[in-house]
Amino acid sequence: MSEYVTRAIVLGFKNSKEHDKIFDFYTEDLGRVRVRAPGGKKIVSKLSPHLDTCNLATVKIVEKNALTLTDAVVEDDFRASKGKEEFLAKALRAASVLRTISPEAVPDPALWNLLVHSLRSGAFDLVALISVLGYDPRHASCTWCGASDIAFFNEGSQEFLCESCGSKINENNLLYLK
Ligand SMILES: [Zn+2]
Repeated sequence: MSEYVTRAIVLGFKNSKEHDKIFDFYTEDLGRVRVRAPGGKKIVSKLSPHLDTCNLATVKIVEKNALTLTDAVVEDDFRASKGKEEFLAKALRAASVLRTISPEAVPDPALWNLLVHSLRSGAFDLVALISVLGYDPRHASCTWCGASDIAFFNEGSQEFLCESCGSKINENNLLYLK
């Protein structure tokens, strides 16, 4: 059994079984991990309801078969403090991108620092984010037509698209980069 104490940004969560929650964290020490928070344990049921997407928290995770959250202290609730809708929309979008394309259990100090800096400064640069993840739009061209003027990143297929090609597909999968 291993125990980790690390800072983490909440990328999202969902309810599981009756009282459990499954959290997606981007952690400073472990990279992206999926952690179960059993609702039956008193300490977690007290703390985990306060953990929300885009929060920065210090978490204690125990590894025993699966990863289990045993404690969490929120350091920064960026949702509450900023009150900027555009920032929150971008931060939630960034969290969704990370859930989809960041590798599991690979710590990345550059990515961690960018995330914390973006949340603290209230400005999310999605181009910088996907660049750190290895998808650099500055040297990309449209996957469909070859145009060099990139407007979108399709997080589902991990393709870059120009404005015209991007407008032809479901925008829920698309990050607008301009
Ligand atoms: Zn195109």
